[in-house]
Amino acid sequence: MDYDTFTGQTVSEAVALANLFALGEPDPSEVRDVLRLYGLRDGPVDLAAFGDLAGRIRAVFEAGSDRERVELLNALLSSYEPTPFIADHDGQGPHFHFVPDDGADVRRVGASLTMALAHVVVDYGGGRLGRCPAPRCPNVFVDTTRNRSQRYCSKTCATRVHVAEHRARH
Ligand SMILES: [Zn+2]
Ligand SMILES: [Zn+2]
Repeated sequence: MDYDTFTGQTVSEAVALANLFALGEPDPSEVRDVLRLYGLRDGPVDLAAFGDLAGRIRAVFEAGSDRERVELLNALLSSYEPTPFIADHDGQGPHFHFVPDDGADVRRVGASLTMALAHVVVDYGGGRLGRCPAPRCPNVFVDTTRNRSQRYCSKTCATRVHVAEHRARH
């Protein structure tokens, strides 16, 4: 799967943010760490607002149909109102920013993550976004395999399930 660099990285951050909030409210430093590309401002991290964003991103992955997924994404686009322009700073080369630099952190992040997920759905199909079916694993993931064969969030989960199935048969 050929993501362009920024979309790919941004999609990974959407996954990381959704998974970070899956186990309860994280530490603000963990949110900063997951979103380090965005350089959140000094001061308190609005955990409620980021938690809301994380939950809505998760819903996009867990949607039962493409139609529902598109409705959720369109609602996110309405909420976070991306207004794209091209930025070039810190030697990164020209790339999109989706909210003026003085916009609230959660809006900058929300607009950018939402645009990246919308690109995946439009360019590659909603089937690329999934929820791990392994027991007790809340993680969502993006299937980046060439033949759309990824079922679990990680090798760890795939192995865990296969070992359990093997044991159950003997
Ligand atoms: Zn930038
Ligand atoms: Zn998993």
